[in-house]
Amino acid sequence: MPQCSTVVSVHSIAMSYHSPFSLTTEGESMEKRSWAEPYKIKMVELIKMTTKPERQAAIVEAGYNTFLLKSEDVYIDLLTDSGVGAMSDRQWAGMMMGDEAYAGSRNFYHLQQTIQSYYSYKFTVPTHQGRGAENILSQLLISEGDYVPGNMYFTTTRLHQELAGGTFVDVIIDEAYDPSSKHPFKGNVDFDKLDRLVDEVGASRIPYICIATCVNMAGGQPISLSNLNALRVWCDKHDIVIVHDMTRVAENAYFIQQREEGCDSKTVRQIVKEICELTDVATMSSKKDAMVNIGGFLAMNDAKLYERACELVVVYEGLHTYGGMAGRDMEALAIGIGESVQDDHMQSRVGQVEYLWRQLDSAGVPLVRPCGGHAVFLDAQAILPHIPQEQFPAQALAASLYLESGIRAMERGAVSAGRDKSGANHLPELELVRLTIPRRVYTQAHMDVTAESVIRVMNCADQVKGLRFTYEPRVLRFFQARFEECT
Ligand SMILES: *Cc1c(COP(=O)(O)O)cnc(C)c1O
Repeated sequence: MPQCSTVVSVHSIAMSYHSPFSLTTEGESMEKRSWAEPYKIKMVELIKMTTKPERQAAIVEAGYNTFLLKSEDVYIDLLTDSGVGAMSDRQWAGMMMGDEAYAGSRNFYHLQQTIQSYYSYKFTVPTHQGRGAENILSQLLISEGDYVPGNMYFTTTRLHQELAGGTFVDVIIDEAYDPSSKHPFKGNVDFDKLDRLVDEVGASRIPYICIATCVNMAGGQPISLSNLNALRVWCDKHDIVIVHDMTRVAENAYFIQQREEGCDSKTVRQIVKEICELTDVATMSSKKDAMVNIGGFLAMNDAKLYERACELVVVYEGLHTYGGMAGRDMEALAIGIGESVQDDHMQSRVGQVEYLWRQLDSAGVPLVRPCGGHAVFLDAQAILPHIPQEQFPAQALAASLYLESGIRAMERGAVSAGRDKSGANHLPELELVRLTIPRRVYTQAHMDVTAESVIRVMNCADQVKGLRFTYEPRVLRFFQARFEECT
């Protein structure tokens, strides 16, 4: 672990900035315009800085896994954007309107109607969170031996596909694997890869393609409307369903508005609906875009599929009108969906992420570019070239950042990728540390401290050591694995 004394000030970097588009596209000179958060703060939660010896003890105790740290020992928590957003006063008011009836809660009907009007899907099955929806959907649509293409894997999504007997096939464009590529839509699907899969296994072995909006594992990178339109045509031709992992659809819609030709006059809300209308089924983790602490849903247009989903949800989640959610939580979710698609909200949401991204980029920190929607991704392999991927450079970098500053980030590299069916480690092309920004929680000053801390760690990167497992869970190992430093 580094003992670092170099301090690089980033406060000199301009505090006002361009619109997000001009930040991510070089050579553009746009009118400089600042934004401010479209809210003011009504309540605060106190946080406290720890000492370095305290953090040293905490990270060893946590087996160098930031998931195993106690939240009390964390200063700025950028582990995830999941379930950690700040609810609005209206959402809190909604919590008081919970109808906790076992069956037919009015909050369920409000939620279903909200999903119809903002997202277009006719039927809603609430679940305790996103993976609950993934479980039900995978069991309903996948048979043993099927192939499920997707625009890059997500940890829980792929696991449920495999548990149902399917094999995930990555069909994202190659640019998504190149952290330095500035492609504005790295979440796009590569149709050559899809055609090849159909040639190899036949369309009848492909029950659906899973499309994530603002692809998490690629660095929060969007898919374009034109790519999605082309996918609709391709899927109709082959009679393949499109499942939409819509966890971050609003962030994706915002990037379409900012980057895609002919879309700048549309609202985020309009683009969100257009995306959803191009797909058949959706799984949602409401803990991200929709700014609630817990919840999710499965949504679809097909009445027969809905009927079968209702049969399964009672087994795994709860009755089809609550599916593991309290009435009050469904109410807060319905309100959060409306807030999540507002243009001013998205501008400040992504604007804050880009503010951090730009500070780090100016200081020469190797990053995934362009900036993603929910997080800044550090290229751990480039920062720690002396650590082989088998010694988990991203895991080591996240641990070092915590030790240096009390900031908690997350590994998104070989540890998250897990092992394949033969037991071999997946060694993904992207070995990243994710600095994930919770929605409406931190200020610019927290971003300044974060940038300073990352730069300090980078400046003594050669002192960071690789890690090896002392305990490795069999599935989703990144959550609970423990490590020690390699000597
Ligand atoms: C978080 C997430 C999920 C799973 O949702 P949970 O609510 O954590 O179960 C699925 N897909 C993506 C892209 C996610 O980010």
